Amino acid sequence: MQKPVGAIVLFGPPGAGKGTQARVVVQRFGIPQVSTGDMIRAQVKAGTAATAAAAIMQRGELVPDEWVNQLVEERLKQPDCRRGFVLDGYPRTARQAQALQGMLEGNGLPIRTFDIRIGHHELIPRLTGRQCCPRCGAIYNVHGNPPKRPNLCDRDQTPLETRADDREEVIRERLLAYERQTRPVIEFFRQQGQPVYELDGTLPASEISGQLCRILSAA
Ligand code: AMP
Ligand code: ZN
Repeated sequence: MQKPVGAIVLFGPPGAGKGTQARVVVQRFGIPQVSTGDMIRAQVKAGTAATAAAAIMQRGELVPDEWVNQLVEERLKQPDCRRGFVLDGYPRTARQAQALQGMLEGNGLPIRTFDIRIGHHELIPRLTGRQCCPRCGAIYNVHGNPPKRPNLCDRDQTPLETRADDREEVIRERLLAYERQTRPVIEFFRQQGQPVYELDGTLPASEISGQLCRILSAA
C-alpha cells in the first residue's frame, strides 16, 4: 500500500474555500473528498433525506449530529478512504469532533487540521456570486472567478447551479452557526495537542493550495 496521507480536516467559514482546496488535495494526493454538505444535498435531491433536514439546511442551521456522524462513519469505512481523506465541512460541533476521534481511533491515520481564516465581510459577495457545476463539482464566482461562458462549466459545458442557501439572509445564519458551534471545535483540537495549521483565506486559491500541499508533503 502507498504511504498514508492522513485524515485532513479543513475548517473555515462558509465561502472560505474549503471545497476548492479539498478538490486540489484530491487531485494531488489521490484521496477522496468527504463533504458532508455535498452528501446531505445529494440525499435531499434524491428525496432520501427527511423533509425536516432539508428545512434546517434551507434556514442555514446545522442538521442533527447523529445523522451527520452516521453518514461520515459509513463513508470512512469505504476502501478508498484507507490512505486518508479530506473532510470538508465536518466536524462542525463538539459532538461531531468527539465522534470523529472515535472513528479514527486505531486506524493509524495522522490527523492534519487546517483553519482557513477570512473575515466575514469578504464572504457575503463570494457566496452570493457562487456557482457550482452539478456534474464535475467545479466552483466559480461570477465576480472573482467567472466561467469563460456565462453560466456554463468550462470543463463540461454543464449549466451551473446556485445553491439555495447562498442567499444573504441564510448566509448570515450560516456564519452565526460557524461562530457559535464550529469555531470552538478548533480550540478543542488545539487543546488535544493537535497542531492546527492556519491558512490566510484572503490569498488567491492557488497560493493557499501551494501552502497546504507543502505542509502535507512535508509531514
Ligand atoms: P456546506 O456545503 O458545508 O456549506 O453545508 C451546507 C449545509 O449542510 C449546512 O448549512 C448545514 O445545514 C448542513 N451541514 C453540512 N455539514 C454539516 C455538519 N457537519 N453538521 C451539521 N450540518 C451540516
Ligand atoms: Zn463541470
